[in-house]
Amino acid sequence: MPKVLDGAAIAAEIKREVAEEVKRLAARGMRPGLAAVLVGHVPASEIYVRSKVQTCGELGLYSDLITPPDTVTTEEMLRLIAELNARDDIDGILVQLPLPKQVDSKVLLDAVAPEKDVDGFHPVNAGRLQAGRPALAPCTPAGVIEILKRSGTPISGANAVVVGRSDIVGKPAAMLLLHENATVTICHSKTRDLGAVTRGADILVAAIGRPGFITPEMVKPGATVIDVGINRIDKREEFDRFFKGNAKREAAFAKRGSVIVGDVHPAAFEISSAYTPVPGGVGLLTIAMLMANTVRAAKMRRGL
Ligand code: NDP
Repeated sequence: MPKVLDGAAIAAEIKREVAEEVKRLAARGMRPGLAAVLVGHVPASEIYVRSKVQTCGELGLYSDLITPPDTVTTEEMLRLIAELNARDDIDGILVQLPLPKQVDSKVLLDAVAPEKDVDGFHPVNAGRLQAGRPALAPCTPAGVIEILKRSGTPISGANAVVVGRSDIVGKPAAMLLLHENATVTICHSKTRDLGAVTRGADILVAAIGRPGFITPEMVKPGATVIDVGINRIDKREEFDRFFKGNAKREAAFAKRGSVIVGDVHPAAFEISSAYTPVPGGVGLLTIAMLMANTVRAAKMRRGL
C-alpha cells in the first residue's frame, strides 16, 4: 500500500513552528505583519484571503486586510503598494490573484518591494532563488519541498521530474529540487514522449492544471508522486473516469455537484510508494508556507 503524505499534518507542524518563532520575536518586541490585498468580490479569492488572515491571527502575526473595489485602476493599486512598501508594520504583501482585467498584474507584482514579496513572484526573488541566494520562494513549491523533507523522502541524487514550467509552480519547484541535489528534468506541453520521461522519475511533481493527466503507465513503480493540481470536475462522465465506485467521493459529488481532482489520475497513486492526495496534500501547505515566508521576511528585513 502506498503511503499517503498527509498535507494537513505537515501544515500543522509548520504552523506550530511559526507560532513558536512569532512568540520568540514578540519577546524581542517584534510582530511580523502581513498585508492582504483583495480586490472586488471573487468568491474563491475571498475564501482564500479570509483563511490567510485568520491563520495570521491564530499564529500571532499582525494582518491588515485591504479591499479596493473592482473598479480600481493600476495607478491606484500602485499607490497602495507604494504605501505598503513604506509601512514598517508590514513585512509581507500579498496581492490576491486574479485581478480585474483593467489592472496590469505584472506591473503591480513587480512594484511589491522584493523584501516584502512573500508570494515569491517578484523577478528579484526568482533570480535570487536561481542563484542560490537567500530568497522568498513561492509558497506552493516551497510546500512541495517541505512535504518531501518532512516525510523523509530522499531528494539528494534522486531523479526528479517536474511536469509544468509555470513561474509560480513548475520552475521554482524544479529550482528548489535542484538545490536539494536532485537530478531535475522539467517537462511541458512540447515535451516528446512525456511518459518515457516521467517513468524515469523517483520523484514526480505534477503541476499541469489538467484533471487526472498523469496515468498509471506514466509512473515508475515505487516513485514518490506529488500532485500539485487542483481541478474541479462537475460532469458525471468525468467523475466516473476517476472515482466510479468510490463511496466517499460519490457522496461528496452527490452533495456538492462537483469534486476536486488533482493532475494525477487516482489509479496512478497505486503505483507509487508515497503520494500527496488531492484534496489534503500540497494545497494545505500553501498558507502555512505564506506564514513562514512572512516571518522570514520580517527577520530578513531586520537583518536577523
Ligand atoms: P499553468 O497553467 O501556469 O502551467 C501549466 C503547465 O503545464 C505549463 O507549463 C504547461 O506547459 C504544462 N502543460 C499543459 N499541458 C501539458 C501537457 N499536455 N503535457 C505536458 N505539460 C503540459 O498552471 P500552474 O503552474 O499555475 O498550476 C498548475 C496546477 O497547480 C493547476 O492545477 C493549479 O490549480 C494548481 N495549483 C495549486 C496550488 C496549490 O496551492 N496547491 C497553487 C498554484 C497552482 P507549457 O508551458 O508548454 O504551456
